[in-house]
Amino acid sequence: MNPTSQNGKKPEGPKRLRRSLIFYYVGLLLVVIVMNLLFSRDPIQIDYSDFVKMLDEGKVAVVQLTQDEIAIKPSDKNDPNIYVTADVGDPQLTDRLLSSGVQFGGVIQKELPAAVSMMLSFVVPFALMALLGTFMFRMIAKKMGPGNAMSFGKSNAKVYVEAQTGKTFADVAGQDEAKEALQELVDFLHAPEKYSKIGAQLPKGALLVGPPGTGKTLLAKAVAGEAGVPFFSISGSEFVEMFVGMGAARVRDLFKQAQEKAPCIVFIDEIDTIGKRRDSTMGGNDEREQTLNQLLSEMDGFDGSRGVIILAATNRPESLDPALLRPGRFDRRIPVELPDLEGRIAILKVHAKDVHVAPGVDFGVIARATAGASGAELANIINEGALRAVRCGREQVEQQDFEEAVETVIAGYQRKNSAINEKEKQIVAYHEIGHALVAAKQKDSAPVHKITIVPRTSGALGYTMQVDEQERKLLSREEALAKIATLTGGRAAEELIFGTGSSGASNDIEQATKLARTMITRYGMSPHFDMMALETVTNQYLGGDTSLTCSPSTAAKVDEEVLQVIKSCHAKASEILAQNVEKLHALAAYLLEKETITGEEFMAILNQ
Ligand code: ADP
Ligand code: MG
Ligand code: ZN
Repeated sequence: MNPTSQNGKKPEGPKRLRRSLIFYYVGLLLVVIVMNLLFSRDPIQIDYSDFVKMLDEGKVAVVQLTQDEIAIKPSDKNDPNIYVTADVGDPQLTDRLLSSGVQFGGVIQKELPAAVSMMLSFVVPFALMALLGTFMFRMIAKKMGPGNAMSFGKSNAKVYVEAQTGKTFADVAGQDEAKEALQELVDFLHAPEKYSKIGAQLPKGALLVGPPGTGKTLLAKAVAGEAGVPFFSISGSEFVEMFVGMGAARVRDLFKQAQEKAPCIVFIDEIDTIGKRRDSTMGGNDEREQTLNQLLSEMDGFDGSRGVIILAATNRPESLDPALLRPGRFDRRIPVELPDLEGRIAILKVHAKDVHVAPGVDFGVIARATAGASGAELANIINEGALRAVRCGREQVEQQDFEEAVETVIAGYQRKNSAINEKEKQIVAYHEIGHALVAAKQKDSAPVHKITIVPRTSGALGYTMQVDEQERKLLSREEALAKIATLTGGRAAEELIFGTGSSGASNDIEQATKLARTMITRYGMSPHFDMMALETVTNQYLGGDTSLTCSPSTAAKVDEEVLQVIKSCHAKASEILAQNVEKLHALAAYLLEKETITGEEFMAILNQ
């Protein structure tokens, strides 16, 4: 994209800069003068008789005679001083000097040297510093641009307008519901009269909400592209300025420009930075609240029928101020969720369009292996696959490239020459086969797709990939328990074979505990608490943080139950492995030899 600044006004900055520049020069002059006074070394005045004494004692190295002064350089090398004495008109001076054998001479006085020395000590340093200072001011002024912290008052809203975004709905795969909702806005921008004739009011704004990387920014651009209208794009953080009032001025400017260019789209990305709920806490953010108030009143003030549509995106809708969400402002809320299986296949295909893909590549397999991945991650997988194909010297990207790319994105790059000793390798092999065996021997568990003990840059020493045949939306109690048992399978295998556990299970432990806790606190899968909610999700789209909503004594009981669930699942995993210990040995030996095995190879040995 190619944003152009829409700012006809002359920047305010330079005038102020020029004034500070004058201060700078005056200060500089003072500094130079003081430095000259302080540091020019004055010769030391001595009496003529002392000079004669020095001469007699042989303490003089060089003597310079001027019209009315005698300058003396002592022969003592440790004495850096220059002495001067007045020329008293001693007629024997020349004889004295000759007999003492010192080097001596006269200086012919000229006007120029004084001027030159003056030049050297004042003008040159001053000129140099002034040059440097001007240069630095220029740099700073340029960096801060118009509307910087040095100019108050009038805003110089940096608004970016792209005549054409170059994106259309075809670039956005999946997200059909969102596209449908936005299509209406596109229609409106094409023909506002059609709507106004019938008396229908279109929403002034629509809010795109969803996790990061799901295509919210992309969708907004596509709307502008489809409608063929100017696209004003600004990020919420750009409104927040160093000085109170600047953000509000920017909002005013933005809306003024938008009205001039109507019909158009104004897109405020990451609106939560300014749209945060106003609260009554002490020392609230004045600047942010003013900006928000300005935004609210602008949204009320402008005439929606002229065809200005405001889109905003956020991944923290719960933190937005309720005033923003009331009808007449962002009354449309368009969810942009993580893609499902179909959506993922579509996104992979969209991004593979510009890549030379070998015939027969099955994006379905890749999409199944990437449940929960966002559009941005899928785009990344396609690119990583293409990069790998280049590394391998291929002309086309093959299935294996994409599969390796999935693992790269999930677990990091392969660590080619990391030295793992045999014993540790063995432990990792048993650990991974432990997971796979426990998964395979339970009926409510997803099939094993791949097992590997090639270490990854993320620190994983190996992993077992399970891929569901179909996309799952629901999780039953049995499936959840099977999952926890599978997670404990790695440690269970270590215990069974080596009689002890290793730190390699730390990630399994974390995941198992999280799932067990969620079962009890949010899924109502504990017989004890029935359908009571014990936790609420506070941050739906960013990591899904939760906070407890129960009393501390209940929380203690929850901990107990979580422990019970994990213990029983762990016991079950140990039991399964003990019953299949021969298979465990056989599979681990095979994995140790091959380092990476597929689900089919695994099942073949298991069913022998
Ligand atoms: P968000 O604003 O939701 O965080 P972006 O719109 O910036 O996400 O998406 C980042 C990138 O991910 C896009 O530039 C695009 O390459 C890719 N992407 C995300 N969702 C999709 C999608 N539905 N279809 C195609 N590409 C997508
Ligand atoms: Mg975005
Ligand atoms: Zn593990």
